[in-house]
Amino acid sequence: MNTVVIKVSQKVMSQMKEAYKGNILNKKVPHSAFVVKKGSTTITAYTSGKVMFQGESAQREAAVWGEEIPKKKKPSSSKRGANASLPENLSQLSVLGSDEVGNGSYFGPVTVCAAYADKEHLSELRELGVKDSKALTDTQIRQMAEKIKELIPYQLLVVNPEKYNQIQPTYNAVRMKVALHNQAIALLLEKIAPVKPEAILIDQFTPEANYMKYVAMERTMVDQRLYFTTKGEQYHLAVAAASIISRASFLDELDKASTELGMTIPSGAGAKSDQVAADILRKGGLELLRNYAKLHFANTEKAQKLV
Ligand code: MN
Repeated sequence: MNTVVIKVSQKVMSQMKEAYKGNILNKKVPHSAFVVKKGSTTITAYTSGKVMFQGESAQREAAVWGEEIPKKKKPSSSKRGANASLPENLSQLSVLGSDEVGNGSYFGPVTVCAAYADKEHLSELRELGVKDSKALTDTQIRQMAEKIKELIPYQLLVVNPEKYNQIQPTYNAVRMKVALHNQAIALLLEKIAPVKPEAILIDQFTPEANYMKYVAMERTMVDQRLYFTTKGEQYHLAVAAASIISRASFLDELDKASTELGMTIPSGAGAKSDQVAADILRKGGLELLRNYAKLHFANTEKAQKLV
């Protein structure tokens, strides 16, 4: 489908609303001001000022109101193509990177971290041994996280299970992650201002178009100089650093939970998690479990059957 996004002022937005008033749908899209159906074209105006035109005459219709926000280059279809749109010398630039941990684990929080590694700190990070957190032991991760935190600016966000369970029914997992990455990035940009990173690299968890769709719903959105790639930690140490800080925080939270409950709380979402969840249910029911586990996972039902 043809999609064009423009950004307009509040004034233009009101003019649009007036012009389309006969075609405004009685439909609620989150964070939208109004939705219009004109012929085969759907126009969604977001309170952020972004307006999305979808359909055959998207281009023509959008051109009336403003200039199209240029789309990022589409990745080519080759295997390594996903990275074709990255700046060539990316690993040498001053980059703000972000990554998250815990989304696939039944127990524990979702932690998201943004870290800013400028050119001057790259060699020090490398000397610390910063690399893919999956290639490091838990002990190494904790030690390294402390050193990284002393060395470079970062912003860590922790969504504990209790909070997660409150948000989860309205925010799907992807939208929640987009909101968290966006928030961590925005807060870190504030911290380092007036310094601006040359690129913002997000360890990719959803197609770029999806990210942009959800980020447009956020009050403060960062949508400039954004780059996405899977295995982001291999493309810049900022992502590797962010990944290590997120993982260390996730491990700390699991430890805290283990101490509070007096049992070892595992990560992941396997059979072990079902058993531990069953123990928690026996101890304090769902009221207790909701503080430690992401209840919408299938593990909850399996644990209930075990009890
Ligand atoms: Mn990741």
